[in-house]
Amino acid sequence: MSKVVIVGAGQAGSEAATHLRGQGFDGEITLIGAENVLPYQRPPLSKKYVAGDMGKERLYLKPEAFYHENKIKLRLGLTVKKINRIKKLIETDSVTYEYDQLILTTGSLPNQFPGNFGKNLSGIYYIRNLDDADKLKEIFEPGKTALILGGGYIGLEGAAVARLKDLNVIVVEKSKRILNRVACEQTSNYFRKLHQDNNVKIVEGYGVDRFTHQNGKINGVFIEDGSFYAVDIVIAGIGISPCTKLAEDAGLEIANGIKTNKKGQTSDPCIWAAGDCSAFPFGDKYIRLESVQNAIDQSQLIAKNILGANLEYKPIPWFWSDQYDVKLQIAGLNNGYNQIVSRINKEAVSVSNWYYKDDTFLAVDAINDSRAYMVGKRFLEAGKSPNKLKLPNPEIDLKDLLTQ
Ligand SMILES: Cc1cc2nc3c(=O)[nH]c(=O)nc-3n(C[C@H](O)[C@H](O)[C@H](O)COP(=O)(O)OP(=O)(O)OC[C@H]3O[C@@H](n4cnc5c(N)ncnc54)[C@H](O)[C@@H]3O)c2cc1C
Repeated sequence: MSKVVIVGAGQAGSEAATHLRGQGFDGEITLIGAENVLPYQRPPLSKKYVAGDMGKERLYLKPEAFYHENKIKLRLGLTVKKINRIKKLIETDSVTYEYDQLILTTGSLPNQFPGNFGKNLSGIYYIRNLDDADKLKEIFEPGKTALILGGGYIGLEGAAVARLKDLNVIVVEKSKRILNRVACEQTSNYFRKLHQDNNVKIVEGYGVDRFTHQNGKINGVFIEDGSFYAVDIVIAGIGISPCTKLAEDAGLEIANGIKTNKKGQTSDPCIWAAGDCSAFPFGDKYIRLESVQNAIDQSQLIAKNILGANLEYKPIPWFWSDQYDVKLQIAGLNNGYNQIVSRINKEAVSVSNWYYKDDTFLAVDAINDSRAYMVGKRFLEAGKSPNKLKLPNPEIDLKDLLTQ
């Protein structure tokens, strides 16, 4: 009987364990997680959970009984400190576990402010784990002012939830526009207007110059443009970094993530990596994806490969973001785009922005338009590109473009 140990009991770790069992693996599975809570989904943390529209039990990926019934040894509140590759052991402060195959699903952590910026001051919050979300739930009170640093998806979702709870909200984005790193100008413009219509103040092109505080608690922020805002809460949404230290210390290859081959194997053939922490080959680069779809698909592929399949990871990435009553769905990766074709319905309720590199379709941002998302995905699966001239015409059914 062989032993699989999985380090990191999040979305990817839980899926790897579940899928291994589901595929008929009858060896030992040990799933170890540093957080003292059943494996849970993170997306609602910046959406329905903080808004109070979703209970904690609905965050859990599986009920506790599932792990017992499937003989998955769940070890929670336990941090793995070391991998001994020679002896094939992993070590925590209190116990060691032997493995035949090891899967690393250690996820990522929010970036902190560089240097000493804001250090030793209280009042800065992050949205990564359940503890963070519970803290925000507690302090989100109507009339308070929240300053959100970073206009990416997490920051903007945090802004929307804070507004729903009647806080005053300011979003400060250091680069020239919100969503600059991840989306085209058209998508940024849509979300800027959405937030402004919901009375969010958006500052773009300037970062934070300094915080003011009283007795060590932040009470104000000077922006680089000289403006000052009195604030009660600062939420930092300035990106995440993969948790690679364990792998790095064990001498595994790292490339902005734990480097894997197309099968999910690290530079040690008995160690695999999936989810936010893994960097895998995509075209001529190694990339990391920070999404539920990637965590699930990679883990399933690795589980199958451990059982002897010889599959390669060829994702068609998808992602979503909910802000107010707007649903954004993204299919594909827009890296390297040089043209956007927008399709806007008459009332501008549904909008989709289609990314091209020359004549090759790369990705679509579908805003309140699940049809555009579905059709975009089908084009990507087929390796085809929608006709750029017909695409903007809302009178033409998108599905018809698939056959043209
Ligand atoms: C607020 C928020 C909103 C999001 N919204 C969306 C969304 O709308 N759509 C979407 O697709 N994605 C979204 N994501 C991203 C998505 O949740 C992640 O991509 C996904 O959770 C990655 O899964 P993972 O298993 O790789 O990492 P995680 O879910 O982060 O799990 C990693 C786990 O490993 C544990 N761990 C790390 N090191 C050790 C160690 N040494 N020993 C033991 N345990 C360890 C960590 O404590 C953690 O519990 C969101 C993320 C956040 C935080």
